[in-house]
Amino acid sequence: MTKLRDNPLTDASTPGHPDALPAPEIIMVTSRRVKCDGGGGALGHPVVYYDMGEEPFVECGYCDRRFVLAEGADGH
Ligand SMILES: [Zn+2]
Repeated sequence: MTKLRDNPLTDASTPGHPDALPAPEIIMVTSRRVKCDGGGGALGHPVVYYDMGEEPFVECGYCDRRFVLAEGADGH
């Protein structure tokens, strides 16, 4: 089988499978309560709200983004 090299730029720079999931995005926030909608567009998802509770971070169950509480922003 012959595969056309229609996008040679990705030949050397794409590690592993071309359909591999992108690395989770890390978003610094200043509140323990965060809202995520996946950024809209094709990667979007219904708006969801998370509360970090005891943890200094929370991960979105839809898009795997990780929201990290910025240091010194505990909201006292
Ligand atoms: Zn999300």
